[in-house]
Amino acid sequence: MSDVNERLQCSAAGTAAFDVVIAGAGFAGLYMLHRVRGLGLTARVFEAGGGVGGTWFWNRYPGARCDVESLEYSYSFSTALEREWKWSERYSAQTEILSYLNHVADRFDLRRDIQFDTRVAAAHFCEAENRWTIETNRGAVTARFCIMATGSFGGEGAGDRRTRHFQG
Ligand SMILES: Cc1cc2nc3c(=O)[nH]c(=O)nc-3n(C[C@H](O)[C@H](O)[C@H](O)COP(=O)(O)OP(=O)(O)OC[C@H]3O[C@@H](n4cnc5c(N)ncnc54)[C@H](O)[C@@H]3O)c2cc1C
Repeated sequence: MSDVNERLQCSAAGTAAFDVVIAGAGFAGLYMLHRVRGLGLTARVFEAGGGVGGTWFWNRYPGARCDVESLEYSYSFSTALEREWKWSERYSAQTEILSYLNHVADRFDLRRDIQFDTRVAAAHFCEAENRWTIETNRGAVTARFCIMATGSFGGEGAGDRRTRHFQG
């Protein structure tokens, strides 16, 4: 790597440092946060939206619901969580799935490590320091591991763009 590239990719050294940075606070990002905490690692989640839920935060059009059974469309990492959460419908609507994900965030105290309204703009690996530099619209941090739990539906605005004229 050239000196110029090396400097660019390591330029955020000295900023806040975490073991793990996770982009996205949907099903995947919330679970990853819980999991890496369990490994004793420090973590910060950056979520472009103003709340947890991912797909279910952004897609609120009438009729939005899961098409596998709610019991299967649930986390299985906690027996206590499985016992305490009761789905009211066999195929749950968006509002109930979003409530579930908010419950999970509270139940496992996940919010304290999630920074909302923050979009990851770039991630560079600094070979000299063996760390990622993650740039967001609100500054940069570094991490040993960088997990992109950004889903496949495009996040902010994508649901709205696809369903603007959809009445449910
Ligand atoms: C109406 C509907 C019904 C569905 N039904 C089912 C079903 O029945 N079964 C099934 O398995 N799946 C279903 N899905 C698919 C669903 O998307 C996934 O099941 C699951 O919610 C994906 O979770 P995720 O955490 O991987 O990603 P997402 O839920 O998409 O979350 C990704 C998050 O990353 C954030 N993000 C993206 N880019 C950045 C960035 N650069 N910086 C910071 N944050 C970022 C986004 O804002 C978003 O909050 C359905 C989807 C829809 C829309």
